[in-house]
Amino acid sequence: MVLPVCDVCLRSGTLCQGCENKINSGEISQLDLDISKILFKLGDGKIGFKKTIEIGDVVIIVTDKDQVGKLIGKGGKIVREISKTLKKKVRVVGENSDLKSVAKDILSPARISGINIIYGMDGEQKYKIRVMKDDYRRVPTKLDLLNEIIQQLTGEKTLVVIDRDDY
Ligand SMILES: [Zn+2]
Repeated sequence: MVLPVCDVCLRSGTLCQGCENKINSGEISQLDLDISKILFKLGDGKIGFKKTIEIGDVVIIVTDKDQVGKLIGKGGKIVREISKTLKKKVRVVGENSDLKSVAKDILSPARISGINIIYGMDGEQKYKIRVMKDDYRRVPTKLDLLNEIIQQLTGEKTLVVIDRDDY
C-alpha cells in the first residue's frame, strides 16, 4: 500500500515531473496530495491509501481493509490531525467493503441500530439505515450527504434515518 504521490516528492516538498503530470491530468487531486503529505509525516511512510472522495464538509479516505485501523491511528490520532489540517471531517473506509461496514465507518461515532431493505413506489430497492436516537448529534453531516457518500462507495441507494420513539 503506497501513497498516490511518490516518496521523492514527499521528501523534497517539490513535485517531480511524473507526479506533476498526474496532478495536471487529474489522476491525483490536490486533496490526495495534501493527505499524502500529512500521512508521510505521521506514518513513517508506512501508511498509504487508494483514493479520496470529498462530499460537502466530509473527506473520505479509501484504503486497504487491513490499513483502516492504522490510518485512523491510536485513539483516532492520525485522522484528527488530517481533519485539523484540512478543516473538514474525515472518515476512513476499507476498499470494497460491504454496505454494513461502509455505513458503520461513515456514520461513526454514531451507532447503527439496524439496516433493512425498503422498496419505493416504483419498486426501487433501498437500504434503510437506522441511527440510534441518542447518537443523533454524532452523525458527521447532513443525512442526504451521507446517502450520497454511501452510494458513491457501495453503489447502493440508502436512506439514513434517525430512530424515533414512536415505532
Ligand atoms: Zn513524484
